[in-house]
Amino acid sequence: MDMKSFDTRFRIIRIKKIIRENDVTNTYIFDYPLFAKPGQFVMVWIPGVDEKPMSVAFSDGREFWITVCKVGGFSSSMHELKVGDKIGIRGPFGTHYEIGNGQKIVLVAGGYGVAPMYFAAHEAVSAGCNVDFLMGARNKDLLIYTHKILGLGVNLQIATDDGSVGVKGYITKILEEVLGKSKVDKVFTCGPEVMMKAVGEISFAKKVSCYISVEKYMKCGIGVCGQCAIDDTGDLVCKKGPVMSWDYLRKLPEVGQYHRDAQGKKQYFFKKTI
Ligand SMILES: Cc1cc2nc3c(=O)[nH]c(=O)nc-3n(C[C@H](O)[C@H](O)[C@H](O)COP(=O)(O)OP(=O)(O)OC[C@H]3O[C@@H](n4cnc5c(N)ncnc54)[C@H](O)[C@@H]3O)c2cc1C
Repeated sequence: MDMKSFDTRFRIIRIKKIIRENDVTNTYIFDYPLFAKPGQFVMVWIPGVDEKPMSVAFSDGREFWITVCKVGGFSSSMHELKVGDKIGIRGPFGTHYEIGNGQKIVLVAGGYGVAPMYFAAHEAVSAGCNVDFLMGARNKDLLIYTHKILGLGVNLQIATDDGSVGVKGYITKILEEVLGKSKVDKVFTCGPEVMMKAVGEISFAKKVSCYISVEKYMKCGIGVCGQCAIDDTGDLVCKKGPVMSWDYLRKLPEVGQYHRDAQGKKQYFFKKTI
């Protein structure tokens, strides 16, 4: 393992810049040499609030970014922070997307998953890959990073549920077309688990390797607490993931079905009818 991309030290750092991506999403930029790889995460601590995992949205050895969507207690506290405020970090932790030189790669992203996928696209372009970036959102107001992605010169295609931008419908429709048209080496995806499950199934049907960033409730991030154990194998997502192959995940009963909350209780993505 490259020890630069796994760092358990606890550091206090200051926010250098905040970019408002949309009404509920901010990007935080830090002048800090993190040495992360696309798909890895950092544990972010706000004193007196909590410590939560956040995917690295960019890292070049000088600065790094995280992009936070406001959904609950911790993320709302993040949104109250100002430039110059301090936070604590540990990491980077976890597995990453393996990007080979000159490959044909399709990235499928939804929600704040677009941010770490941007990082993957950036690395893939540097490695001479041919990149299709497929982005899904409920509507145009929820899109993020579009200008940054276009700036990489990759082929960006968008689908929105209401058709306010791009194709109307799910991004998986575009994925099926792209995989049907040309030979693709790998599919990488990050976003809502139900979307990623569909991406995994389509890629599997087309015999293309697919890698997914699994999001489970994490407390320690380093394999000590056991909170992010996945059914039925008990593997810890913070150590074996978050980036895992669909080949492995497709055999597990909880993927796309439920996640566990802070108390370990199952929370189903859809209400059970039986
Ligand atoms: C590896 C990893 C990377 C992450 N990267 C990012 C990131 O880049 N940006 C970002 O904004 N967040 C990211 N998260 C999520 C983040 O860690 C927090 O869970 C999120 O900010 C919600 O915390 P909260 O306290 O604001 O809300 P909470 O009060 O904890 O939750 C708010 C709502 O979200 C639901 N929820 C919480 N966790 C999940 C889950 N796993 N699946 C489905 N619903 C869930 C809760 O049930 C609740 O309804 C990541 C999580 C992991 C494990």
